[in-house]
Amino acid sequence: MSLPAFDGDAQDAARTTLVVQGLGVDFGGVRALQNVTLSVGAGQIVGLIGPNGAGKSTLLNCISGITRPTTGTVRLGDVELSGRRPDQIVDMGLGRVFQHPQVIAELSVLDNLLVACHRRLRYSVLAEMIGLPGVRRAEDAARAEALAVARRIGLAGSLDVLTGSLPYGHRKLLELGRVILMGARLLLLDEPIAGLNEGEIEHLANLVLSLRTESGLSILLVEHNMGLVRRLCDRAVVLDAGQVIAEGTPDAVLNDPRVLLAYLGEVDEDA
Ligand code: ADP
Ligand code: MG
Repeated sequence: MSLPAFDGDAQDAARTTLVVQGLGVDFGGVRALQNVTLSVGAGQIVGLIGPNGAGKSTLLNCISGITRPTTGTVRLGDVELSGRRPDQIVDMGLGRVFQHPQVIAELSVLDNLLVACHRRLRYSVLAEMIGLPGVRRAEDAARAEALAVARRIGLAGSLDVLTGSLPYGHRKLLELGRVILMGARLLLLDEPIAGLNEGEIEHLANLVLSLRTESGLSILLVEHNMGLVRRLCDRAVVLDAGQVIAEGTPDAVLNDPRVLLAYLGEVDEDA
């Protein structure tokens, strides 16, 4: 019932490895993705970059089961994700943080975290009604976990605050906390720092790094801020017009002439 710990064994490593192979998506006449192949190893942070309209969000939608690819496969470890429902894919360890935070505005910070905990623990509703002692223990454990995560995301001082009245940056951190509590092994982060101030960006960057080192999470990060990609990512994959045009270390990729050409007029290095 504790947070997923990184034990580093081979089975665990296999489970956290994302492998996308030959993925293609057609939206009517628009070919949003074409023969996209990439992987995220256990405990790796991979940046997914590319100009607007390149297909980054479409790729995340395919991985999380929202969009059904026309061709290709997605595997998490030895489990085939293609064809499964988004909620089933979450149960397999996929955590996604959206551009706009998906939190329950009517609930407090603590309750948002508890709901996420319960989604993972899912003890039976019947047992809860009868009030079995085991349920009581599960409740206590969930609360302890939720509090630990609240401290980790820096919201321990706002447990009773209604989420709807939280500043935007705090909602984003809360969403990340919820995903951790749901037992994610692979995180998909779609422009996580958009709308955050400098202090919040720093906090989020450190949190992402600690999720990798302390919990062994694998992370696929869509990000326009190249400074952050350099700082956080082991590797970067560049999409342009639906195709992978470069892959390698952030430094190598960001100096690749094809990448610079794709980005011409798109990116401000200091953004
Ligand atoms: P990015 O996230 O890299 O900016 P997207 O994945 O959002 O790119 O979009 C890739 C391409 O697919 C764009 O040309 C976009 O207009 C198109 N597209 C995305 N979603 C849909 C959809 N649901 N229906 C039709 N076209 C779409
Ligand atoms: Mg996008």
